[in-house]
Amino acid sequence: MASGQHHDRATLGWSLPIGLAAGSLLGPTAGVIAFTAFLFGGLWLSPDLDTQSNALHRWGPLGVIWWPYRRLIPHRSIWSHGPLVGTAVRLLVLLGWTLLISSLVPAINPNKVLTALPWALQNHPQQTAALLLGLEASVWLHLLQDGDPWPAEWTRRQRRVRRQRQRR
Ligand SMILES: [Zn+2]
Repeated sequence: MASGQHHDRATLGWSLPIGLAAGSLLGPTAGVIAFTAFLFGGLWLSPDLDTQSNALHRWGPLGVIWWPYRRLIPHRSIWSHGPLVGTAVRLLVLLGWTLLISSLVPAINPNKVLTALPWALQNHPQQTAALLLGLEASVWLHLLQDGDPWPAEWTRRQRRVRRQRQRR
């Protein structure tokens, strides 16, 4: 399992190649978005928000928004470290907080928050794809660095569940 520093260094090192690759496929704006999303994904929206990590500390006092995520999701579980699943869960946490704030601040319409992603996909498909790809690519780098795209924790838990079922 790689340390936080290794994850950070790899994120910084791979951000430019990822941005250039996305830029050559989807255009320069999408390239910049993928580059930024990859950096944000690796340094702030890391799967390791499920534990005391560099990513969590970067949020400063705002790190409190990840408290439910950290409490409910065991470190390196499929819900934080699963491909696609982890990113979806973290985006849902951010969406949940945004909805909560928008319901308290009259100037922000919660419906607009909910329709933002479908609207972006429809009106700026390449840029939205670059954003999501950048975020997800940072997770894959994280998983590859940890040395196992299928963490041992998942298998161990599955084995335990299977054993419990056999006992019954
Ligand atoms: Zn991790």
